[in-house]
Amino acid sequence: MKVVMIGPPGAGKGTQAKKLADRFDMRHLSSGDILRAERSSGTALGNKVAEYMDAGKLVPDDIMVDVMAKTLTSGGDRVLLDGFPRTVLQAEALDSRLQESGQSLDAVIIIDAAQDVIVDRITGRRICPACGKVYHVKNMPPEKPGICDACGEKLVQRQDDTEEAVKKRLEAYKNLTAPVVKYYRSSSEGDNNGLRIIEVDGNKPPEDVGRELLAELESLESSE
Ligand code: AMP
Repeated sequence: MKVVMIGPPGAGKGTQAKKLADRFDMRHLSSGDILRAERSSGTALGNKVAEYMDAGKLVPDDIMVDVMAKTLTSGGDRVLLDGFPRTVLQAEALDSRLQESGQSLDAVIIIDAAQDVIVDRITGRRICPACGKVYHVKNMPPEKPGICDACGEKLVQRQDDTEEAVKKRLEAYKNLTAPVVKYYRSSSEGDNNGLRIIEVDGNKPPEDVGRELLAELESLESSE
């Protein structure tokens, strides 16, 4: 099973993707996590992508396609792609890589949410740099303010989770990623290739969104 998850920052892609990947035994490939790992290892590539990320801009397509192709080809068949593709060019590159190996996508999950919900979620988000656990200062605070419940580490805010960067990231979503949704809609209607489009409302509480997605993927899996 190969699934792509698309949505603006803060719509809940990461939270849902982790759970679904566990439940359906898929590799969770988060392009943002892969880039953050690259930058924290201090490679030349990592330093280059850091500039784009901190400015709330998308990393250029050629870099992104290379990074993801490397990761995609180095593992099994069951994959949940979270945050990639984010441009039509990336979606086309993904399609042709999959076609070359006789594969295709089974589903595209689209999670959207209102701008005020997104800005509130992202600017309040805090992350444990040691174990990756995610908190929110109001909606999901740790027991001791600023400290991870799981490992006691000091929580941090992502450099691109400031209000200014979020606005730029939303703009990039509107201009470059929203067309990817159209691309998949027309390819699911066009040639009857079995691509399923699953749309959920990311304004709802994460547990409700999770239940809907679980039911959708269970039905997809039983139809395979
Ligand atoms: P995320 O963790 O998914 O919000 O991604 C964080 C940042 O990584 C984005 O704001 C971009 O700068 C970069 N990024 C992640 N995925 C992509 C992608 N598919 N194409 C271009 N840039 C990306």
